[in-house]
Amino acid sequence: MIQKTAVVTGGAGFLGSHLCDRLISEGMKVVCIDNLLTGNLNNISHLFGNENFTFLKHDITNFIFVPGNVDYILHFASPASPIDYLKLPIQTLKVGSLGTHKVLGLAKEKNARILLASTSEVYGDPEIHPQEETYWGNVNPIGPRGVYDEAKRFAEAITMAYHRYHGVETRIVRIFNTYGPRMRLDDGRALPAFVGQALRGQDITVFGDGSQTRSFCYVSDLVEGIYRLLLSDEVEPVNIGNPDEITIKQFAEEVLRIMNSKSKIIYQPLPQDDPKVRQPNIEKAKRILGWQPKIDREEGLKITIEYFKNLVLP
Ligand code: UDP
Repeated sequence: MIQKTAVVTGGAGFLGSHLCDRLISEGMKVVCIDNLLTGNLNNISHLFGNENFTFLKHDITNFIFVPGNVDYILHFASPASPIDYLKLPIQTLKVGSLGTHKVLGLAKEKNARILLASTSEVYGDPEIHPQEETYWGNVNPIGPRGVYDEAKRFAEAITMAYHRYHGVETRIVRIFNTYGPRMRLDDGRALPAFVGQALRGQDITVFGDGSQTRSFCYVSDLVEGIYRLLLSDEVEPVNIGNPDEITIKQFAEEVLRIMNSKSKIIYQPLPQDDPKVRQPNIEKAKRILGWQPKIDREEGLKITIEYFKNLVLP
């Protein structure tokens, strides 16, 4: 069998690096592209020296050159946590728009199949609950989250256009909140924030009254869903996430309980346009990919907390 080659943009990031691992373990050659804006070489250092792994430090908003044959492209480059895209609004818009355009150009040139990392943020502050793929969303284009939400909505639109107009083989995954090792402790998301605060003995900052909900998926489940989608025939978007929904207050309490922490919960203002609820409807993924998550939150949290402990207290 001829060895396949996959390009992973954002391959030094949290999800990108786990995908590099998976594709290598499936026997593929992997070309990882990252400009290291929010990615980190520590996430892929174990792959250096592997003959099937190549790293290119490159900003994909500029022309992308990859020599040789490419079979798959997994387009994961983007700042992805709310504080990252608040700090990097222009880069976030550029990578979702110009970057996606370049990546689609590469897919067309190489006759490769491309999988776009989209997001539950395309649903905005949803009026339909749980969110299914047919929902068009409730996004504020000019709010602080608009830079990410609209970039990803544009990315979906141009991906479908390349599919329809150029016949490029495309896949779109809408990723819901995901956690696990290799998240950045300082990325501002709820889980790393809570664990970091508990490890330092600080108060736990819950935004708003903590009644907003999220549904957290462990990274290995997400990677399995994405891999199955990559190999499937489904062109239209597919939600991948864990439907086990919890309020942020309960989530903070759960983290404190598992960590055996005495930190107190304090309440801070809710950021603008923070979605009030979020839960994926995964019926489509179940039906067409035969996929559903396997790792429950307690198990996933324990592994992730252990990872963070080793970072903070080496
Ligand atoms: N959140 C919080 N405290 C923090 C960080 C986040 O209460 O220190 C809340 C945030 O307002 C949101 C939820 O936790 O309601 C999840 O936030 P996150 O940044 O993880 O991702 P989001 O799902 O909003 O993209």
